[in-house]
Amino acid sequence: MSKVRVRFAPSPTGPLHIGGVRTALYNYLFAKKHGGDFILRIEDTDQNRFVPGAEDYIIESLKWAGICPNEGVGFGDGPHKPYRQSERMAIYRQYAEKLVDEGNAYYAFDTEEELDILRKKLEAEKSAFSYNSTTRKHLVNSITLSDEEVERRIQAGDSFVIRIKIPENETVLVHDLIRGEVSVNTSQLDDKVLFKSDGMPTYHLANVVDDYLMKITHVIRGEEWLPSAPLHVLLYRYLGWEEVMPKFSHLPLLLKPDGNGKLSKRDGDRLGFPVFPLNWKDPQTGELSSGYRERDYIPAAFVNMIALLGWHPSGDQEIFTMDELIQDFSLERVSKSGAKFDPDKTKWFNEQYLRRTSHRELAVQLMSIAQDKYQIPSGDRRLTGDYLEKVVALLIERVQFESEFSDKGSYLFVEPTSYDEAVVTKKWKAGFEDFFQKVMQEYGSMTSFTAADAEAKFKEIAAAMNLKPGEVLQLFRVIVSGAGAGVELFPMVELLGNEEICNRIEKSLLVIPQMATAKS
Ligand code: GLU
Repeated sequence: MSKVRVRFAPSPTGPLHIGGVRTALYNYLFAKKHGGDFILRIEDTDQNRFVPGAEDYIIESLKWAGICPNEGVGFGDGPHKPYRQSERMAIYRQYAEKLVDEGNAYYAFDTEEELDILRKKLEAEKSAFSYNSTTRKHLVNSITLSDEEVERRIQAGDSFVIRIKIPENETVLVHDLIRGEVSVNTSQLDDKVLFKSDGMPTYHLANVVDDYLMKITHVIRGEEWLPSAPLHVLLYRYLGWEEVMPKFSHLPLLLKPDGNGKLSKRDGDRLGFPVFPLNWKDPQTGELSSGYRERDYIPAAFVNMIALLGWHPSGDQEIFTMDELIQDFSLERVSKSGAKFDPDKTKWFNEQYLRRTSHRELAVQLMSIAQDKYQIPSGDRRLTGDYLEKVVALLIERVQFESEFSDKGSYLFVEPTSYDEAVVTKKWKAGFEDFFQKVMQEYGSMTSFTAADAEAKFKEIAAAMNLKPGEVLQLFRVIVSGAGAGVELFPMVELLGNEEICNRIEKSLLVIPQMATAKS
């Protein structure tokens, strides 16, 4: 068998949707699994749909996700360069001409206006126009015109397109590795344009020619291309390349979270999750769409999540490294039916990856975030690896994203600026001031201040003052952190240290008793 060669062939018409990233990923996994090559080809023959910045976006997205092609635009040349179709223009025309010469395609001179009139007329009669084996007999093309007239028009520089001549009533079989055999009657197909009046090939011609020239063995792409596959099979046949035709796999759609229809950017906006890997600013409207990278997703978690959108692993493992994905991946276990996108599960993946990251590593990343956010001077103990690792350990079970360490744990870096009012009004009693004064006094002189020491002392003072710990514990938490709930209390107290705790108690006693009386 020849070496596996696959390609991801996006058109630079906008930001890459996560469905596109999944297509790239499955191509990558398949190539790696079979020791093959993975190519990035930019299909930019449709000048009208070209969007500046989209190509760079695609390249950056693949790099961020770690889905790196061996050859292609942005990733280095290989033997089949160039990889941008606009740079391959000289290649395509000869193949279109060959198809015409052998009677499998024809010149069509109908103008857009003429075809539009026909379309409108048929629309009014509630039917649809199609340029096909029936209508072509009545239109202006090299089938209805004499050879001399065709020649004359071409010499005169008349505008023309080249269309494929789809045979009437034949069965075309597409072998799809995911869907099995798909059979289509050619009467359902139209004579698609292969070569446009602007001298550019259409997607269909350029795609087939390039897959052939780039020795692509497997075409793995989205389901939206399945209707084009019979046309591509015919092109391989007419160009004499059927022997080396790639094997097709059409991936299932990504569906909205409720399963009703295709996942779109609007669903993301509506339900608050990104459908793009990176932030994207529309160059025309300036509209900003958010991306997974900027939402603080770990690239490997993102990749793991999209890998499972439509592919079923062999066992019930859910967390996979890229190498494990490569090991386990097979097109046979890609499902035919659409995959529902689950935004909560997406967060869950990030959480799982976060928990698998070493505390040391997370602490290092937290250092500059905390320093900037809370203006902590360098050299401060709150910026030491030791301190930050403890912050990580205290919060790890409560966060899904790295950015939450500094948000949810603000009180581990700075003193509270307000106190949970509901807890204060509900729990504070006259006399508690004496209790906390006493705690402050005792804590201040302790030389060993572990969580256990702090807790034992706290309970001892409470008992001596005839208080149940339950009466004052939550208040103590509010005094220390401002919030009625949060990380484990005494480990937090230990981390902050007795000096800081005393300082916080002192400040809180200037505010909390008044808060309580004002409300009662
Ligand atoms: N240029 C097509 C796209 O944008 C490629 C389809 C294919 O892989 O054949 O999706």
